[in-house]
Amino acid sequence: MKRSTIWILTVVMAIALLGLLAMQIMYLEKMVAMRNSQFSEIVMRSLYSVSTMLEQNETKYFLDQDLAEAEQMYTGISQNSFEFSDSHEATIDTTFNSEDPASLRPANRNTLKDLNDTYQHKQEILKQQYLYQKSLLNEVILTILNESSDRPIEERADSATVATYLRSELEFNGLSLPFEFAIVNRTTGIVYKTEGYSPLSQQDVYSQLLFPNDPKSKQNTLNIIFPNKSDYIFSSVKFLVPSLAFTFLLLGVFLYTISVAFKQKKLSEIKNDFINNMTHEFKTPISSISIAAQMLNDDSVRKSPEMLKHVSTVINDETKRLRFQVEKVLQLSLFDRKNATMRLEEEDANASIYNVINTFKLKVEKYGGHINANLDAEDPIIKVDRMHFTNVIFNLLDNAVKYRREDVAPELEVSTVNPDEDHIQITVADNGIGMKREDLKKIFERFYRVSTGDRHDVKGFGLGLAYVHKMIDLFGGSIRAESEFNKGSKFIITLPLYK
Ligand code: ADP
Repeated sequence: MKRSTIWILTVVMAIALLGLLAMQIMYLEKMVAMRNSQFSEIVMRSLYSVSTMLEQNETKYFLDQDLAEAEQMYTGISQNSFEFSDSHEATIDTTFNSEDPASLRPANRNTLKDLNDTYQHKQEILKQQYLYQKSLLNEVILTILNESSDRPIEERADSATVATYLRSELEFNGLSLPFEFAIVNRTTGIVYKTEGYSPLSQQDVYSQLLFPNDPKSKQNTLNIIFPNKSDYIFSSVKFLVPSLAFTFLLLGVFLYTISVAFKQKKLSEIKNDFINNMTHEFKTPISSISIAAQMLNDDSVRKSPEMLKHVSTVINDETKRLRFQVEKVLQLSLFDRKNATMRLEEEDANASIYNVINTFKLKVEKYGGHINANLDAEDPIIKVDRMHFTNVIFNLLDNAVKYRREDVAPELEVSTVNPDEDHIQITVADNGIGMKREDLKKIFERFYRVSTGDRHDVKGFGLGLAYVHKMIDLFGGSIRAESEFNKGSKFIITLPLYK
């Protein structure tokens, strides 16, 4: 797959997934907002009903209070009127005999007049009663208007009644959540409150004015909060959580797939580079050996011992170079094997390093440089595979020469010290081209090569330091690098001492 195709797929998938996620979040927000307003609406409706019921309660209270008095007076008036009417009714003869047609005839003038008088009188009495009741009601209304606000609010809206009304109204409206409430006076503050009433913010409080006809300064509000409101709101959008989780899962899998695709792409590019590099590295010594072999066929060369010596030296050197390259490629196979075959044995680090330095000395001197050795570690016995340990030091020295500065003779310093009594620290420092900070982080990765390090005559596979890192790891130690661009580099290995 082309890199651009992977990019296009990434962008399209990212847009689709992010769009899906954004829509889900929007939907979630809408649902929460809707649920919130529904909740507020139910609460405000219930509060309004409670307030109305409290007002009705108060009216009933005042009516009850005046009732006894009213009944007394009413009884007095009724008794008088009934005595009066009874005496009149006695004089009215309203009976008639069906068998006597004469009885159907209108009564005599006197009797009719009496009847009219009685009705008029009764009407008068009813009118008086009506007027009296009306004035009584007016009186009650006036009392409510004038005196009710003087009654203490604890009496007008006592805690138990308010709680009962609130519960029944909220339940009637389909909300059976625990609540806490308080009665708050406009001027004096909280009159009373339930135990758990402690709103975190004013937004959590729902308020309703009680007895709105009270004078402004005496007005009270009923405040209510719902400690479990968020659970209630969340319970209605709970079903969206799995869908969000699946989207995130999809996003995770997508990111992982994309990263794998890019890694694979990079690996295939690296493989191509590696093959190109390897071909180049092998082609040079092979062609040199091939030319030398052709020269051997030449009689003049065979006859001259000097030329023969030269040709044999070339063949020898190039074979060595070839072997070194093959060895490097072979090291690659070590990474893929889970347990590289290790023959761990006790080794004197100082002595081992000294041997490598000795064989390497000539190469450094060839470029006019030196190797300084300060192998000062005490009891430097470590447990390593001798061959691999030698390769590690060799690789570091080889890099120090490979990445030397053109204009400065290579100065290498190899030292060993004891940072503590259980460890040995081996340092290989050079005055070469150095590395930038961003490269320093990656040099121990397989196939990684610093692009500027790829100088015209410096070829490599990007495997040396990865191999060094892997070996030191297997020896139970650690390696780190310090470097300054254009000044030099330092590789510091720490290994446990064998005791
Ligand atoms: P190779 O030498 O085959 O490229 P290595 O793994 O040995 O691979 O090194 C990785 C990279 O680290 C090199 O490409 C080089 O740029 C950088 N490097 C390693 N050692 C040094 C050094 N002593 N000085 C400067 N750069 C170095």
